[in-house]
Amino acid sequence: MIETGEFDFENRLVAPQVIKEDDGDFDYSLRPKTLSEYIGQDKVKENLSVYIEAAKKRGEALDHVLLYGPPGLGKTTLSNIIAHEMGVNIRVTSGPAIEKTGDLAALLTSLQAGDVLFIDEIHRLSHAIEEVLYPALEDFAIDFMIGNGPAARSIRIDLQRFTLIGATTRSGQLSAPLRDRFGIIQRLELYSTDDLAEIITRSAVILGVAIDSEAAYEMASRSRGTPRIANRFLKRVRDYAEVMGDGRITKDIAKIALDRMEVDNLGLDSLDKRMLTMIIKGYGGGPVGLDTLASAIGEEAVTLEDVCEPFLMQLGFLARTPRGRCATDLAYNHLGIPRGDDGGQTSLL
Ligand code: ADP
Repeated sequence: MIETGEFDFENRLVAPQVIKEDDGDFDYSLRPKTLSEYIGQDKVKENLSVYIEAAKKRGEALDHVLLYGPPGLGKTTLSNIIAHEMGVNIRVTSGPAIEKTGDLAALLTSLQAGDVLFIDEIHRLSHAIEEVLYPALEDFAIDFMIGNGPAARSIRIDLQRFTLIGATTRSGQLSAPLRDRFGIIQRLELYSTDDLAEIITRSAVILGVAIDSEAAYEMASRSRGTPRIANRFLKRVRDYAEVMGDGRITKDIAKIALDRMEVDNLGLDSLDKRMLTMIIKGYGGGPVGLDTLASAIGEEAVTLEDVCEPFLMQLGFLARTPRGRCATDLAYNHLGIPRGDDGGQTSLL
């Protein structure tokens, strides 16, 4: 029997997005404040530090920056760091929050010289808002229409030179004209286990929790390459260490805690496993269309696509073919299901 039914996404421990239990203060205290505190992403850091230094030397605002990559990798953190390193203020908003052109105009006119405007999920800006943004980015001015019909005329308001930092998980959805207006485009990659172990160790120091390096590594290896998940694990495992031991996080405690949270040794949780098991046992290993798969396990297709697939594909457990999704040999091995025990069909892979 393959388990189906509602899954509690809002509390999915390995969700890379912010979930209900991520509390703002905890998150804020762990955020690195300077480039040197920001762990990993060496190429991005090197590039940005050159651009920042050059802009500061010239006494100019930094060029507009686009940061893209999966959620939870540190785009918001990096934007705050850029503003800090430039010694300017930052205003934070997001694509869906800017509903009217007037909202954007109010934001833009409030910026002082050199300030950073951070727009998260910038791919979700409406077309009308984008139109206002273009002259703002290029000429540092916005055009307003006053009146209607033949009497209508446009007036131009000059803005201070500012830096837009846009963050997106889906750079492909950004319109070409908007993308072209960013002078600096940087992609954030999933973190290595070593980097994540360093992030966990740093966070433990800030929280005043003692942790063995083996424990940090164990947690890092299950964090799906994502600092937000690594910090969330730390928060949960700390509770286990306080209740089960003397407060120190050892490898054994980390293992027990993560196993109880149903996060396996590679970071897969029950939803990932249900998805793979359904492909294997329900559809002979695939190919199976995403919508069919989603209704078979009682989840939304978009959730499987955004939340499970990127990580399963990165592990090499899932392949997308024109005819649908297929489970690979690696997935069979990891789940301990022999080929042939997959509903009798032979997979294409
Ligand atoms: P995003 O905006 O990409 O979704 P965030 O900037 O909100 O991600 O980062 C999520 C959390 O992960 C932050 O609270 C921060 O504590 C942590 N984090 C992200 N990147 C790093 C890093 N390079 N070093 C240390 N901690 C990081």
